[in-house]
Amino acid sequence: MSEKYDVIVIGSGPAGYVAAIRAAQLGLKTACVEKWSDDKGKVVNGGTCLNVGCIPSKALLDSSHRYHDAHDGFENHGISTGELSIDVPAMIQRKEKIVAQMSGGITGLFKANKVASIFGYGKLLAGKKVEVTDKDGNVTVYDADNVVIATGSVPINIPVASVNPEENTIIVDSTGALEFQEVPKRLGIIGAGVIGLELGSVWARLGSEVVCLEAMDTFLAMMDQQIAKETKKIFTKQGLDIRLSSMVTGSEVKGNEVEVTFNDKEGNEQKETFDKLIVCVGRRPFTQGLFSDDAGVQLDERGFVKVDDNCATDVAGVWAVGDVVRGPMLAHKGSEEGVVVAERIAGQKAMMNYDTIPNVIYTHPEVASVGKTEEQLKAEGVEVNIGTFPFLAIGRAVAADSQDGMVKMIADAKTDRILGCHIVGPSASDLVQQIVIAMEFGSTAEDIGMTVFGHPTFSEAVKEAALSVHGHAIHMPNRKKRK
Ligand SMILES: Cc1cc2nc3c(=O)[nH]c(=O)nc-3n(C[C@H](O)[C@H](O)[C@H](O)COP(=O)(O)OP(=O)(O)OC[C@H]3O[C@@H](n4cnc5c(N)ncnc54)[C@H](O)[C@@H]3O)c2cc1C
Repeated sequence: MSEKYDVIVIGSGPAGYVAAIRAAQLGLKTACVEKWSDDKGKVVNGGTCLNVGCIPSKALLDSSHRYHDAHDGFENHGISTGELSIDVPAMIQRKEKIVAQMSGGITGLFKANKVASIFGYGKLLAGKKVEVTDKDGNVTVYDADNVVIATGSVPINIPVASVNPEENTIIVDSTGALEFQEVPKRLGIIGAGVIGLELGSVWARLGSEVVCLEAMDTFLAMMDQQIAKETKKIFTKQGLDIRLSSMVTGSEVKGNEVEVTFNDKEGNEQKETFDKLIVCVGRRPFTQGLFSDDAGVQLDERGFVKVDDNCATDVAGVWAVGDVVRGPMLAHKGSEEGVVVAERIAGQKAMMNYDTIPNVIYTHPEVASVGKTEEQLKAEGVEVNIGTFPFLAIGRAVAADSQDGMVKMIADAKTDRILGCHIVGPSASDLVQQIVIAMEFGSTAEDIGMTVFGHPTFSEAVKEAALSVHGHAIHMPNRKKRK
């Protein structure tokens, strides 16, 4: 008889590994099952985020930003470098080293917290049994009092531009786009969403001519549209060719190139030829081979594991967290759900606040938001006061050549409580976190306006936007009357 656990987590991405560590911290006997292995057949923990998502993309964004800055940004400071060059394989190797370090870190954390790491493909059977098949086909069945499903997501493949890494490396998904060994001269991207924009930025900064084909007629439709418009303006100035209302209808690999056919805004058929094509049209929950017929867990109509507000499935003692359940597909959302579930299993009453999940695009400048957009609040009929403030009027931003962008703060007109904050600008990812904390504490715009911010900092734009909600911004000519 194989071992019995208090908790078995299936999947070691940011949702699963955090759930496993928190459960072990709470004294529960915990195991985490992971099917991902390296080319030596060793288990790889960390999931999409650490291996082919958040971390490697940020490593390449950082490298390409440094190159771009040296290329275009240094001269203004009186710095000259001589002729610049980029060694793409070295850049990719650096990224791989970072990935290995981070993934190894999870394995170390498992050891330190006494989480048993089980390598193999996990399948939930009836009665909270987990069947694990290892790479040699050996099957072991484990018993658990609680099972946490954290199997994540995979890129969506579309027939008009099908990705098959074994057949070609010209049409790729986000994983393939992190592996290019040279800078593509012309790069096509299907989908101008978060991942497409980040990957497009990496290669555009290194010299690719990038064309983003987006089927929707609105840029970053889920974002506050004032910020989205400002963002599009900045990206276009940087050289990204973003074509909205462009519906791809086909693609054909011809030698070392791919010809993409699409219908433009007017419905006319167009063709473009690229050296590489990245397909970034979204991700879907991954549940392949995960449940036996009698496991009892239900999926919703879009293939997500059905859960309640606390991530409990229809089967008592079976939970699901991260990309495989409803909500934004973000690492920090999954991790927080992992903590909530572990604490609930341990008998605590943890809850997740889905209203304050920050969302970031790690371009340069960054784009970040929390809470509701102006459009959402209008549609809900909520009366709001809005304050905006441009980085152009922030001393630190001017000193750092980072004047592009703005902060937008939205507060309830009756209570002044902050309902949303949307930023495009320098360090937006860190700035927005200030408002995530403020919203968690039920802060008003006035509270932020009355808080002392260090000078000179980028965050002064947050304070000024809060003051601007009531027409008090100091460094802007007031358009509103002082209250
Ligand atoms: C290019 C890119 C950039 C991104 N950047 C960001 C970012 O900057 N910030 C952010 O918040 N999010 C980002 N994301 C999204 C983020 O990676 C995901 O939201 C996050 O990884 C989801 O975590 P998860 O634990 O739910 O699933 P995953 O990370 O997908 O992990 C699931 C794990 O489960 C394993 N698994 C699946 N089925 C089984 C099974 N049956 N048995 C055993 N193991 C199994 C998988 O092998 C995998 O390791 C990015 C994604 C991509 C692709």
